[in-house]
Amino acid sequence: MTSPTINEPVLPEATMHACRPNEPATGVVTKNELCTAGRKSAGFVRHVEIDVSGTALEGVCRSGQAIGIIPPGEDARGRPHRLRLYSLACPTGGEDGEGKIISTTVKRTIDEHWENHKLFLGVASNYLCDAQEGEKVLLTGPNGKRFLLPEDPHQHDYMFFATGTGIAPFRGMVLELLRGGYKGNVTLVMGAPYATDLLYHNELLALRDAHPNFRYLPAISRENNVIDGTSHDTMYVQDRIKTDAEALRAQLVGEKNLIYVCGVAGMELGIFQQLAKSLTGDSLEQYLQADREALADIDNWDRRMIHKQVKPTRRVMLEVYA
Ligand SMILES: Cc1cc2nc3c(=O)[nH]c(=O)nc-3n(C[C@H](O)[C@H](O)[C@H](O)COP(=O)(O)OP(=O)(O)OC[C@H]3O[C@@H](n4cnc5c(N)ncnc54)[C@H](O)[C@@H]3O)c2cc1C
Repeated sequence: MTSPTINEPVLPEATMHACRPNEPATGVVTKNELCTAGRKSAGFVRHVEIDVSGTALEGVCRSGQAIGIIPPGEDARGRPHRLRLYSLACPTGGEDGEGKIISTTVKRTIDEHWENHKLFLGVASNYLCDAQEGEKVLLTGPNGKRFLLPEDPHQHDYMFFATGTGIAPFRGMVLELLRGGYKGNVTLVMGAPYATDLLYHNELLALRDAHPNFRYLPAISRENNVIDGTSHDTMYVQDRIKTDAEALRAQLVGEKNLIYVCGVAGMELGIFQQLAKSLTGDSLEQYLQADREALADIDNWDRRMIHKQVKPTRRVMLEVYA
């Protein structure tokens, strides 16, 4: 039997907390633009670029890490707003290749107050989305040492699953791999409710067209998917493992593939269930260690079983948030 630890990724030493909340860096917004497909999406998600040159964040941020944003002002109790984390959307080396311009992907939190149905606006996301070019922002970080590309990225294939702003780290990683002359296989599955909610869609299509080793698979969950001119049923990210089984199988069963999952908390469950249905034996165990009872009842898995009866191996990287 193949050891489940075969080909575990060797991760690089990542700089952490170069800027702490008591001594944040001051960055300057250099770009702030919508990154949904046109203006037809009901949500507002923006690609925000920030110049961190001359600060302790310059040159130290890696794709897959997050930065902290400290919004100005105070909360309802008169305390300074706490920081919120945002994943980097740029490659290691930043947007400029020199680590001076970093970026993130921010979704405006807009809702009604639960108690009184008045408009609820999330503090940090709306602050960042409102920020104009030239505006200063307080930053901390970088955070995270596990959700990274391996030290030698050429040793592996990659399967990335994103929902919503979970695309941020994968935009950075895909750019990093493809610009770095990577020749292996990289598959990105991007989930969104409607096609108009896909993020960085045109940029990713252009990368797909320019790089035959990059497979880009959108999965639309609330309307039919149009693939090569043909309409298909609605899909969640994990459904691509089934619908594209022929194309993905070689990569999935291969001993050097890594799986990364980023986005809305809970998305990992469906992916794990589909992996357990599509793979068996060593092919499955390189990603998931599940006990016999669990494997007999895959449809009834729930999130509480993850890390207990269903354990992802070190070949699976998770970054999910509410
Ligand atoms: C590792 C990590 C990476 C992340 N990366 C990203 C990213 O790349 N992009 C991104 O957009 N976000 C990201 N997030 C989420 C981000 O940190 C913030 O949580 C999010 O932007 C909301 O922050 P906010 O200040 O706008 O909202 P807040 O002001 O913090 O409001 C949200 C909170 O208010 C409460 N609330 C929500 N709705 C209501 C309501 N209707 N009535 C009353 N109370 C309500 C909830 O308790 C909720 O937690 C990430 C989080 C983590 C942990």
